[in-house]
Amino acid sequence: MPSRRQFVQQLSLLSIGGIVSPNIGIAQNRTGKIYTVTGAISANDLGVCLTHEHIMSNFGAERSYQPNYDVAALKAQALPYLKHIKSLGVASILDCTTAYFGRDVSLLKELSEESEIHLITNTGYYGAANDRYVPEHAYQETAEQLAERWINEFEQGIDQTGIRPGFIKIAADSGAVSDIDKKLMRAALQTSRATGLTIACHTGDNPAVPKLAQELMDEENVQPSAWIWTHAHQMKTSEELTGAAKAGMWISLDGLRIGGGDTEADQATLDRHLQHLLALKEQRLLSKVLISHDGNSFPRGGAIRPYEGIFTQFIPLLKENGFTKREINQLLVNNPQRAFAILE
Ligand SMILES: [Zn+2]
Repeated sequence: MPSRRQFVQQLSLLSIGGIVSPNIGIAQNRTGKIYTVTGAISANDLGVCLTHEHIMSNFGAERSYQPNYDVAALKAQALPYLKHIKSLGVASILDCTTAYFGRDVSLLKELSEESEIHLITNTGYYGAANDRYVPEHAYQETAEQLAERWINEFEQGIDQTGIRPGFIKIAADSGAVSDIDKKLMRAALQTSRATGLTIACHTGDNPAVPKLAQELMDEENVQPSAWIWTHAHQMKTSEELTGAAKAGMWISLDGLRIGGGDTEADQATLDRHLQHLLALKEQRLLSKVLISHDGNSFPRGGAIRPYEGIFTQFIPLLKENGFTKREINQLLVNNPQRAFAILE
């Protein structure tokens, strides 16, 4: 029997833009667990999921482990927005803000409880932005030692809160992959191998990163399905994306940051994402794609960067371009389940 809350979530799934969960009325099979900030859930209960957003971040500020948010201001801005997002049918969000640039798991837990959205936090370090948010110890320690810290967050919980990460987030700068970014990649793979957590690696338009990832995966004995090419929409053409998807990696088209007032820029963003999706669909690779906005409901000192354009603009565009409800559902429900479930 589904709980009342699950039942209500299923009803709300029925109402968003005609998206229907394939799980309704079908016996649940063993598809693994996902660790949210309020505890483990069955991957079947993930629902409509945004796989790359920021509930809040300190991006732009100096590196610091303990973010110093104005909690009242944060809640006044982020909480009503999360409730609005829930009203659009979203059941869960992966928060991609890492330690040292604004992760606060206790605050995420409060926001999750008050908004009734599943929030999922991460372990790992952010190696983009010229390594500004990489802590000192990462330079001194080996990949194995870093992995030990991250595995410990999964096994023991983060900072005595009991809250466990539901995925690994790392990032690499553009150009040739630096030693520190390579070390983060290796540590992430070792963490994934030990925990089953999937790795979202901020990559953008740098195909050197997935190429190196493939080599490291062979060395570390990790399957490509544990790796997400994050910000893949930044590639100008789709060939490398279809190649990586064929090799088994996830492709994250997560830059649907629209609705900020610049309609020309919005159109270019929508078109870029659509073109990549059409190319992936043509190669029968939609089962390897995630979509999201990279929005932020409390960026440092700024207005909300909305994370709702998928529902207001992108889904209608997909329908106009021949995507079925089943395919749209695959992108927002089934693929996130498969990407992040930890099989037992
Ligand atoms: Zn991001």
